[in-house]
Amino acid sequence: MTRSIAIIGAGLAGAVCARTLAAAGHAVTVFEKSGGTGGRLSTRRSDAGGFDHGAQYLTARGAPMRELLDELTEKGTAAPWAPGGKDRPGDWHVGLPGMSGFVKPLLDGIDVRLRARIEAIMLDQSGRVRLADADGLGYGFGRVVVTAPAPQAMALTAPIDPVFSALGDIVYAPCWAGMFAFAEPVAELPDLVRGDDDGPGGLIVRNGSKPGRTGETFIVHGGGVWSGRHLESEPEAILPHLLGVLERCAGRGLSPVHAVAHRWRYARVDRALGDNHLMSDCGRVIVCGDGLVGGRAEAAAQSGWTAAAVLLDQ
Ligand SMILES: Cc1cc2nc3c(=O)[nH]c(=O)nc-3n(C[C@H](O)[C@H](O)[C@H](O)COP(=O)(O)OP(=O)(O)OC[C@H]3O[C@@H](n4cnc5c(N)ncnc54)[C@H](O)[C@@H]3O)c2cc1C
Repeated sequence: MTRSIAIIGAGLAGAVCARTLAAAGHAVTVFEKSGGTGGRLSTRRSDAGGFDHGAQYLTARGAPMRELLDELTEKGTAAPWAPGGKDRPGDWHVGLPGMSGFVKPLLDGIDVRLRARIEAIMLDQSGRVRLADADGLGYGFGRVVVTAPAPQAMALTAPIDPVFSALGDIVYAPCWAGMFAFAEPVAELPDLVRGDDDGPGGLIVRNGSKPGRTGETFIVHGGGVWSGRHLESEPEAILPHLLGVLERCAGRGLSPVHAVAHRWRYARVDRALGDNHLMSDCGRVIVCGDGLVGGRAEAAAQSGWTAAAVLLDQ
């Protein structure tokens, strides 16, 4: 039986779920509130070049993720990256030409609605799921899969079924991300240095060292604890701290030609639920995403695949 299935969110969890369901013959529609696909696998374009200001690289511990990364590498939308200072084992991959290269090919041929924020989900008497966007009750589906970060997913689903209140147990660390570009080479700066969770220098990455990226561009991720302490600060107040990290590392003052700070309120999962998915009693609403499983993109994919498998089993 062909079902009409809505997926809220075009990050990795939503994309793998959408592709699996569409491949099985279901009519899938993806709603994404932002103007592009990828979610936290994201690259910000600028005159100074592109900046991967969310996830830096993807790894595979399990076979399904390894197969996905191999497939995308073969397609040319992902590539291995072995920076100087690589401090953790396994193959690291980045998306091409930006991080959404991990997601875009998965959504080929699928109806993706961008700038479509779903504001409410309702179950009607006829067994349909109705989604409301800013304009009201716009859409009816047989099933809906919600892949938004847990606090946002909970706001949408807890009014439907108390089972979704468990999403409140999931904890995310925030992250302030600095994007810097320099007109001249800054040879003193390395490709990658991992620092302290309790300071502004959680991670420094020479963005331009990744395949397909150009320019003297750098990312500084504030540590999770530090970012949490400065969560409500203005970007202008955060930038000097993040630039200071680069300056201390270079051992001199630096004058970037581009300096922007972005706040990720929900960046990495600190405490996951420990279940691959959550489902309403009626079986029509499923929540998945990294918060259910753990703090890496592979966890998001695992959760998305599980949600699809559960729907295919119904
Ligand atoms: C700074 C940072 C660094 C990271 N580093 C790494 C790393 O190096 N390696 C790694 O493996 N992982 C890393 N991660 C984590 C990784 O990015 C995530 O685990 C993964 O991308 C989560 O995917 P997802 O599909 O679950 O969620 P998301 O990518 O957040 O996708 C959810 C989507 O839902 C959309 N959405 C939300 N609400 C609505 C709504 N109401 N209507 C419509 N759309 C909606 C959002 O816009 C978003 O696109 C990092 C994350 C951040 C932020």
